[in-house]
Amino acid sequence: MNGFCVECGKEVDKTVHGLCMECFLRDRTLVTLPDHVDLLTCTNCGQFYWHGDWQSMVEEKAAVTAAKEALTCIKEGKVVSVDPSVSYLDDYNISVTLGCRVQIEDIVADALATTIVRIKNAVCKICSRRLGNYYEAILQIRTSEKTLSKDLQDEVLARVEKVVDDAMATDDNVFITKMEIVPGGVDVYLSLIALGRALVKDLGDMYCAETNESAKLVGQTRDGLDMYRVNYLVRLPEFHIGDIVIFRKRYYLLSRVSNQGGKLVSLDGFREMSVKRQDMPEIKVYCKAADIGTADVITVSDGEVQVMDPSNYSMVDLLIPKGAEIGEKVRVIRIEEVLYFVP
Ligand SMILES: [Zn+2]
Ligand SMILES: [Zn+2]
Repeated sequence: MNGFCVECGKEVDKTVHGLCMECFLRDRTLVTLPDHVDLLTCTNCGQFYWHGDWQSMVEEKAAVTAAKEALTCIKEGKVVSVDPSVSYLDDYNISVTLGCRVQIEDIVADALATTIVRIKNAVCKICSRRLGNYYEAILQIRTSEKTLSKDLQDEVLARVEKVVDDAMATDDNVFITKMEIVPGGVDVYLSLIALGRALVKDLGDMYCAETNESAKLVGQTRDGLDMYRVNYLVRLPEFHIGDIVIFRKRYYLLSRVSNQGGKLVSLDGFREMSVKRQDMPEIKVYCKAADIGTADVITVSDGEVQVMDPSNYSMVDLLIPKGAEIGEKVRVIRIEEVLYFVP
């Protein structure tokens, strides 16, 4: 059934509002953009606000995305593809032109629309929390000794940073607000309660440490929920892997510490034994790993090594474990006037 155009009278298969396609498209604007589109960017982290969320994007792409979002098309057609071009008017004003292909019935027409994307400075939610020293939890790292040694402090804080870095990879809300050296340890202020909980478990397991938590009501959220701050305490034990320790009146090398407890190696026969986590507090340090001395090796034989006793230069035979690799020096420990090889 053929129709005809009410404008030009041409006979055509299809009409749009009584017009042939040529007459319909003549002087008609197919796509439009507003005069300007505002695009929020966080001055602190450079993320862009997009659909209720802050996202990392290259600025040009963010500008094009914002422009595309504001694009409207006549109701008779639909935009099937967009080819953007971008030019900077200055640092904060970007002219974005969208070259569109618009499908109306069975024809595709080209159309252009241009807008100015205005970059507006803002601060994203996470940065405003960071800048405002926001925190939900405090990880209190303490020791059972008088002071937390610099080495152990560095080791524990490196571990804390690693756990936080890993968590940050999947959650932008994760950050360390601040760290504070306090008498007997360090306080680490954390953005999330869950982060404190994860860290206290991690450190507690790693060092077989005592842990504790206490929550304090600090107010209410905007929607009326109770808001808490939680203190997570981890009390690092005196013992550390590699120390010579006393357990139930006998001397051992502490060879392993885990969430299950510890492993001890006896110095008189190098037998390994396990200590349950609940029994670990009974362990006392006899000599710190760093303070274990050395002796010069004279000869090595099967199961024994002859060394020069560093205190009186006499020759002493020490028992060594099977298959031990012996260099020019060995580590030794003196216990009740007797020298022992330290594996
Ligand atoms: Zn016509
Ligand atoms: Zn930000």
